[in-house]
Amino acid sequence: MTVLPAAPDDAPSPTLPSLIGFDRDDLAATLAAMGEPGFRARQLWHWIYHRGATDFAAMTTLAKDLRSRLATTFTLQRPRVASELRSSDRSRKWLLAFEDGNQAETVFIPEEDRGALCMSSQVGCTLTCAFCHTGTQRLVRNLSAGEIIGQLMLARDSYGEWPTPSGERLLSNIVMMGMGEPLYNYDNVAKALRIAMDPEGIAISRRRITLSTSGVVPLIRRVGEELAVKLAISLHAVTDELRDELVPINRKYPIAELLQACRDYPAADNARRITFEYVMLKGVNDSPADARALARLVAGIPCKFNLIPFNPWPGATFACSDEATMAAFAAILNNAGYTAPVRTPRGRDIMAACGQLRSASLRASRSRRPLDPAGVPGPTTAGETRSENTAAESA
Ligand code: SAH
Ligand code: SF4
Repeated sequence: MTVLPAAPDDAPSPTLPSLIGFDRDDLAATLAAMGEPGFRARQLWHWIYHRGATDFAAMTTLAKDLRSRLATTFTLQRPRVASELRSSDRSRKWLLAFEDGNQAETVFIPEEDRGALCMSSQVGCTLTCAFCHTGTQRLVRNLSAGEIIGQLMLARDSYGEWPTPSGERLLSNIVMMGMGEPLYNYDNVAKALRIAMDPEGIAISRRRITLSTSGVVPLIRRVGEELAVKLAISLHAVTDELRDELVPINRKYPIAELLQACRDYPAADNARRITFEYVMLKGVNDSPADARALARLVAGIPCKFNLIPFNPWPGATFACSDEATMAAFAAILNNAGYTAPVRTPRGRDIMAACGQLRSASLRASRSRRPLDPAGVPGPTTAGETRSENTAAESA
């Protein structure tokens, strides 16, 4: 594992807002307010999201005067990288520091000729899934659209993937599986993903984007209708009794409602199956009877499974199921006709694997906590009743 210090000269401008996260409408409104004609917005869009410009001076199709006016009003600043960790398996984790001092993490998971960026949607998470490190973090706030799309842009900066390559690229896929519950921050996540999908910009196809939710049922249909990205559901248990404990949002939206939302998901079919994520917890949810019940539960849904070996973190009270138990569990699902790979954990040595992310941000006042979009406050005791881990543990 290698720890790279942050570059000293990449501190954000203290005052000027960044254009990163502005969509086409925002850019058009901004330029109209500056007295510029409509077609300039398309040019500016091209420079920001296709060319990846980090400096207005490089925008040679814009008049010099406009470039300098833009430069005195805005920046093209990405989130600042506070530190970067490199795993022995080539995964990379960036700890990002935002303008207000809050932090979140982004993880790049390379495969042979492509790779997925695991992006965060919130600083921390208001949900308190029993096995998840992020859920123990006390401060929670939504990331802005710019802070979300900025994660992808800085990763592209780092891999030199600008202008947008037309063929295969290393940063080929996005998974919204980092810190936070993306559907508790729907508007900003949707805006960032629309920017990512725009064919004249970053141009990542919706088929290469997966959004994972712990089960915010009222918003699942909207994801299908408005974004049509692939859906992943953190299921993890086959009874409400157990899921209430492991994934507390289940008390609001129990398994039957969640699975109905999956049956109704407009963007799923045999070519775009829903992924059910299932964390393998020794002696908790990993019996052959659980596997058989799981297969029965999802009958009729075009789906596959991701069996995720539990990734430990300091203070966690669970253990990962044995190899043989996981193989037997997978075999039962396979025999029932489902794809069910046991995932090889990536980036464990840098605490970058599923559920290990947690930044050192401090606690927020309760009033700043995001609410469930259905208007129901998220669990208000998020993380507060747990033993607090030290910042050093997550670094
Ligand atoms: N909040 C969203 C997305 C982020 S979590 C969600 O919960 O779906 C990404 C996946 O990692 C989820 O399936 C989550 O349940 C799982 N996960 C969390 N903690 C884990 C751990 N310690 N080991 C393995 N998987 C974990
Ligand atoms: Fe939040 Fe997902 Fe972790 Fe649950 S598993 S606490 S929803 S990040």
